[in-house]
Amino acid sequence: MKMKAAVVTPDSNGNVEIIEREIRPLENGEALVEVEYCGVCHTDLHVAAGDYGQKPGRVLGHEGIGIVTETAPGVTRLKKGDRVSIAWLYKSCGSCEYCNTGRETLCRTVLNAGYTADGGMATHCIVDADYAVKVPDGLDPAQASSITCAGVTTYKGIKVSGVRPGQWIAVYGAGGLGNLGVQYAKKVFGAHVIAIDINDDKLALAKEVGADIVINAAKEDAAKVIQEKVGGAHAAVVTAVSRAAFNSSVDCVRAGGRVVAIGLPPETMDLSIPRIVLDGIEIVGSLVGTRKDLEEAFQFGAEGIVVPVVQTRTLDETNDIFQEMRDGKIQGRMVIDMKKSCGCTHH
Ligand SMILES: [Zn+2]
Ligand SMILES: [Zn+2]
Repeated sequence: MKMKAAVVTPDSNGNVEIIEREIRPLENGEALVEVEYCGVCHTDLHVAAGDYGQKPGRVLGHEGIGIVTETAPGVTRLKKGDRVSIAWLYKSCGSCEYCNTGRETLCRTVLNAGYTADGGMATHCIVDADYAVKVPDGLDPAQASSITCAGVTTYKGIKVSGVRPGQWIAVYGAGGLGNLGVQYAKKVFGAHVIAIDINDDKLALAKEVGADIVINAAKEDAAKVIQEKVGGAHAAVVTAVSRAAFNSSVDCVRAGGRVVAIGLPPETMDLSIPRIVLDGIEIVGSLVGTRKDLEEAFQFGAEGIVVPVVQTRTLDETNDIFQEMRDGKIQGRMVIDMKKSCGCTHH
């Protein structure tokens, strides 16, 4: 049986090729998933461009959702018909210091979907049955795809920020991640939320989904406004893929504040040592989320507390979506609808 997939070009030029490829037989512990939806993430752009190492021929995608159609002998955790995720955390070793202490995303031998393992931007994907998280009933699969990376990443980032009900949190970047970040911060953690972006449309959408204050960083000094208006945020989560946003986030928090980095621009940030020491600022990175985090993030979606804003497209439009992302034109999250993409009749 063949699948259709978006793969990194031989020269990793930042675009994908849409190809047909034979689906390999399942190995122990694996399941075959017929993909329904796969969201497009900024990280896909970086993998396609070889920014984290050349990966020619790799199937992209770590926001996949699909239905299990086959399981290898001995697999008991999943069965035919289950709806599951294909997330960045494709598989970890399960026995190291990190895996054994609730930090499996930091496992040194982890495999990541759409980067070091073939991902979900295809009509079919082979998953490790222990690492595919089940999608709860009542959660729309296109919306679930967005939670698989953008949602869980921001949900976990806000957890790591330690923000408490009634406190102020600044969310830098109001795109696919930031929009969900605003929702989780406001509706799940009970925080007051400030959304910062350089695009007024994205800020309007952030306001709609619950931001108390929005700031256009192209027009105003966000950190200064936050210090003046609320005395500095208790925490900041940076989803923006921009060095300027990272630098501003350190200046926007109050003494004892914590900055959580989750966006991934391939750059360095400026840190004033007196600012860090004298004001006791903490800066910490947070990488996607564990399987447990994803289960929780899905559940808030299933209960309708958090509603991802998604727009569906086809696999053939992947390079167009990439360009729209580079141009910062996207509202919410672009999700590829595989049923409309595969061109076959078995769906
Ligand atoms: Zn992602
Ligand atoms: Zn491990």
